[in-house]
Amino acid sequence: MEEEKQTIHVLMVAFSSQGHINPMLRLGKQLQNKGLHVTLAVTEIFLHRIATNHHSTTATTTAAAADNQIPSISGIDIASFSDGLSLEYDRKSNLDTYMKTLAEFGPVNLTSLVTSLGCDITRPKKFSCIINNPFVPWVADVASRLGIPCGMLWIQPCTLFAIYHGFYNSPEDFPTKENPEKSVKLPGLPLLQTSDLPSFVLPFNVFGSLANVFFESIKNIHKLRWVMANSFYELEKEVIDSMSKFVVIKGVGPLVPATLLGQDDHEGRDFVGIDMWKADDRCIEWLNQKDPNSVIYVSFGSLVVLSKTQMESIATALRESKRPFLWVVKPSEFQVTEGAGELPKGFLDETKEQGLVVPWCAQIMVLSHKSIACFVTHCGWNSMLETISAGVPVIAYPMWTDQPTNAKLMADVFGVGLRLRPNNDGFFESETIKEYIEEIMDGPRSVEFRAKATEWKSMARDAVACGGSSDRNIQEFIDDIVKLSSSHTIKCNVDSSTKCQSS
Ligand code: UDP
Repeated sequence: MEEEKQTIHVLMVAFSSQGHINPMLRLGKQLQNKGLHVTLAVTEIFLHRIATNHHSTTATTTAAAADNQIPSISGIDIASFSDGLSLEYDRKSNLDTYMKTLAEFGPVNLTSLVTSLGCDITRPKKFSCIINNPFVPWVADVASRLGIPCGMLWIQPCTLFAIYHGFYNSPEDFPTKENPEKSVKLPGLPLLQTSDLPSFVLPFNVFGSLANVFFESIKNIHKLRWVMANSFYELEKEVIDSMSKFVVIKGVGPLVPATLLGQDDHEGRDFVGIDMWKADDRCIEWLNQKDPNSVIYVSFGSLVVLSKTQMESIATALRESKRPFLWVVKPSEFQVTEGAGELPKGFLDETKEQGLVVPWCAQIMVLSHKSIACFVTHCGWNSMLETISAGVPVIAYPMWTDQPTNAKLMADVFGVGLRLRPNNDGFFESETIKEYIEEIMDGPRSVEFRAKATEWKSMARDAVACGGSSDRNIQEFIDDIVKLSSSHTIKCNVDSSTKCQSS
């Protein structure tokens, strides 16, 4: 078996954003550690951005393509294909066009990449398996045309998979324009109100092609041999079991940095992943000065930009809490309304003894710091797995996509915190935020939240440890590829046939 593994190449293809690539890299690293060869394919624009922006202090080489070396991240080979647009094209402002162009040109260009890598004279890579993620569902068709088995790494909770699956198959069970407040009952999940559902299944969904990629993924599940999820069995047991009659979905996570799982004995130098923004160096030094369990950490991830009113209400709540806080206020890369994402005038001055505001931090180091007491969060799934792995309770402040459902899970299912509820204008008032901060830090349930968070932290570690549920699922996947790998070869297309013949 060991010998067979040496020749097994796995190709991963991810939508090109940090939150999608990092879980892929971490799964890739585990496959690599178990003896497989792994290549991650990203779009050319993303490779270009990594080469210019990548800021992780601890990740290994990101060699520029221009050096004629094979670029790699954390020891994983990186290959690239064109998304059909020029490097200068503004993808962020034209997301809809971008997703459509990617779906049109991605398949052709990825096919060429796979065949050319397979026919490379010096290091031919005949892929035994392709793994995509939900944002590039068309990869399953490419794999099928090339006769390569395909799997998907689902990068949201399995609960979201079940919701999209339910919606795709029975939309009538979900809220409609006529009945927008209809609640949803799905097997293995608590009753879900409209406010608990991902924005993409709501009747007033305005997210076009971004929403469609999820439904395409569900439509394509029969083309997938494996569905792996960045979650772990113990965390979502009921819903994973209930989905098993439709599709076998297996937890292989949490795919978070090893430091958070107690597996890194090199003080973070084993970090696998990329960081596209430079972390502010002051954070850890500042946290070192604070009492254990005293600091409120506030972050809304890489994409969310809060409105002027939201910024003001958080600022007021933090100032009036009189507690130390670390707040990440990331400058927006999008065009935003006036005052959005900006701190209220005078706030920095008024709170300079109380808090620290930074444009980006090393969140992994922050969450694992002993002074952190709670996390005010938008509930992006990467952040949720990180806080679960670190054992830090949350105040959930969800905005869109999967975040409302993640917030529901964190507060009501996993029991690791509180979810903010908006007022009638859909707005979280500063009084409410302040109240929740008090409740999570010192309220009657604060001990319970911390105990529950510690329990999940330990279960996350058990899941990824040797013989744990996620480790076993990864091993089963590998055993299956090893079995399959002898039974197929990749055909070279016409363009690359010359190379193949000479090899
Ligand atoms: N993150 C970070 N520093 C920050 C804020 C966020 O390193 O100051 C990282 C965080 O650790 C997580 C990712 O950015 O891995 C955010 O991903 P998530 O899925 O939570 O949210 P998204 O950015 O996709 O909305």
